[in-house]
Amino acid sequence: MSYVFGPVPSRRLGFSLGIDLVPKKVCSLDCIYCQVGPTTKKTITRKEYIPLNPVVEELKKWAYEGGEADVVTMSGNGEPTLNSKIGELLIQIKDITDLPTVVITNGTLLYRDEVRKDLLNADIVLPSLDAVTPNVFRAINRPHRSLDINKIIEGLIKFRDQFRGKYFLEILFCKGINDTERELEALYHAIEKIDPDEIHLNTVVRPPQNKRALPLTMEELERIAKRFGKKTKIIAHFDKEHLSTALQDFEKRVLDYLDRRPATPEDLCLVFGVTNDKLMNFMDKLKDEGKVVERVYDKKLYFQIRE
Ligand code: SF4
Repeated sequence: MSYVFGPVPSRRLGFSLGIDLVPKKVCSLDCIYCQVGPTTKKTITRKEYIPLNPVVEELKKWAYEGGEADVVTMSGNGEPTLNSKIGELLIQIKDITDLPTVVITNGTLLYRDEVRKDLLNADIVLPSLDAVTPNVFRAINRPHRSLDINKIIEGLIKFRDQFRGKYFLEILFCKGINDTERELEALYHAIEKIDPDEIHLNTVVRPPQNKRALPLTMEELERIAKRFGKKTKIIAHFDKEHLSTALQDFEKRVLDYLDRRPATPEDLCLVFGVTNDKLMNFMDKLKDEGKVVERVYDKKLYFQIRE
């Protein structure tokens, strides 16, 4: 079983070595736009869903073999802060590599003292906040029944007071759901209190699990960015030009990548450092073998694993 994957290109972090800390798909939310798929275990119970030792051993092996990346990121198949060993892992990673550690979290558990304490060991924390009013929170994030959006926002504010690393708040917009005048105003006031270093605006850019998850246009995102102020960035397309590590075992890596998310040919060329011709020949082979299928979404071609 492999818990360490990548490095994969990230629009914000460069090349990111990923670590899965929960199995697919354990999460406190079931967001309508989730690329991983429907939440099969919706929970707020923390435990060692994936054991710490094999993760540490895999990381040591990767570092020993000269692996290169820009950051090490806890993200993957669900909500990483549900793993009760995340704090310990963040400390142990520092004995293995000097790379900055990143936690991408839905932020729902930051109201708990022990979760905030664990994440103080990270260098960069990227929580999400898509909604502020309870109805919209339920509509877009479909939370565990015991989660309270006001408590979640309080947790995000408390963590800001304690954390000295970089703190970037992401908001993902779905058309007609969390982009109403009322919600934008509520988000604006919540962001003022949370006071992140940056606000990252995103929208649905890959095929989502739910047809209600529709994207905003770039113009709409730009209007919101202007309103939210100068710390706001629209997460642009990934544009780093080459992969910083040699990737071998091409088929396995492509299939591993597509198992986590659908990808365009451009994404795959970028990740694996190959020309479009070479990639498309290879994808024809995988299609013939019944391993991947094509899908068109928002006029773009995507490859995904055949279910
Ligand atoms: S929090 Fe992340 S992993 Fe969980 S459902 Fe939402 S998008 Fe998916």
